[in-house]
Amino acid sequence: MTKFDYKNMWVYIEHDGTTISTVSLELLCEARKLCDVTGDKLVAVAVDGLPEAELAKIRATGIDQMMVVHGTGYERYNNDAYTNLFTVLCQKYNPSAVFVGGTTNGRDFAPRFAARLNTGCTSDAIEVVYNPESGDIEFIEPAVGGKMMAVITVPVLRPQVGTIRPGTFKYEPVGEKAEIEVIHETVDFDPALIRTKLLKFIPEEDDGAVNLAAEEVVVCLGNGLSGSDKLGKYQELADLLGGKLGCTRPVFDRGILPFKQMIGQSGVVVKPKLLVSFGVSGAINHTAGMKDAGTIIAVNSDPDAAIFGVADYGIVGDMDTVCDMMIEALKARQ
Ligand SMILES: Cc1cc2nc3c(=O)[nH]c(=O)nc-3n(C[C@H](O)[C@H](O)[C@H](O)COP(=O)(O)OP(=O)(O)OC[C@H]3O[C@@H](n4cnc5c(N)ncnc54)[C@H](O)[C@@H]3O)c2cc1C
Repeated sequence: MTKFDYKNMWVYIEHDGTTISTVSLELLCEARKLCDVTGDKLVAVAVDGLPEAELAKIRATGIDQMMVVHGTGYERYNNDAYTNLFTVLCQKYNPSAVFVGGTTNGRDFAPRFAARLNTGCTSDAIEVVYNPESGDIEFIEPAVGGKMMAVITVPVLRPQVGTIRPGTFKYEPVGEKAEIEVIHETVDFDPALIRTKLLKFIPEEDDGAVNLAAEEVVVCLGNGLSGSDKLGKYQELADLLGGKLGCTRPVFDRGILPFKQMIGQSGVVVKPKLLVSFGVSGAINHTAGMKDAGTIIAVNSDPDAAIFGVADYGIVGDMDTVCDMMIEALKARQ
């Protein structure tokens, strides 16, 4: 078989039996666009057990096929059963591409089934483009500390496996197709062969405060921040604007703000209407996480900072001074 004999693009639907992981829906929407160009069918692959309302969200993305998997071994996520499942299904159906959400689970099993199939897996692409000349999907991602964009392809082998971080693409359903083929597959995995055992489930502590991905206003702090003693004024500005604080990697590395407030390629992808950025240089690894922000205001003391290249409004100056001025102006308006 050559790579041209492999057909259709699959999206793994990650769910907990009640709700679909949003990234799966985002991937369906992006893969729909690719399939419209390539003529492949878009196939959603899900382990059985989703309620009708969630299935409707999948259908609304314009899928051509829904593959529903039944069998033993899938009661809770485990690497062994899911790796086996996608190895077996890919060997049977020969899809051209398989997209998996870059969640903890997705990043765990996608490279493993790709390795079993002797094919390639790309992680954390921020763009996927079909190249009609080569017939390959180009997975585009920042490299060398964000100084260049790497185009990664799987030029010979199939399927082309990719994990994409949540929030990279948008859930913009194009509408349900009149006819959707539903395929039922039974792949049993002997639970005795699952090598991990769930001892206890400890949910992440929810401070109830920060879900940056859903915020409409974000005040982002970069390494220009002199210390955590200055955090208060930026928090005050964020409160006045009705938003939350985000940060760049160095600010997280310095222990000033937690990981879930780090914006970028390896952190959260944000889509606020307004993003005010202070003391951020504008490395692509960071700006990859804010490319869908509405209005961007950047403050930096260096007039040549790259952040000004993506900002709608740029202010050259000391970040603390500008922050104080903004607070004053907002208070005056109240
Ligand atoms: C694989 C990989 C993944 C990465 N993922 C991420 C990611 O998800 N998110 C992320 O943020 N980074 C990420 N990085 C790191 C990224 O490449 C940059 O190093 C980082 O974003 C730089 O953060 P910064 O702009 O805050 O700091 P710096 O580059 O140190 O910039 C600080 C800026 O502050 C300005 N400044 C200094 N003092 C003041 C002042 N008083 N007033 C105003 N401006 C001032 C300076 O002019 C400078 O432009 C990643 C790197 C790699 C290699």
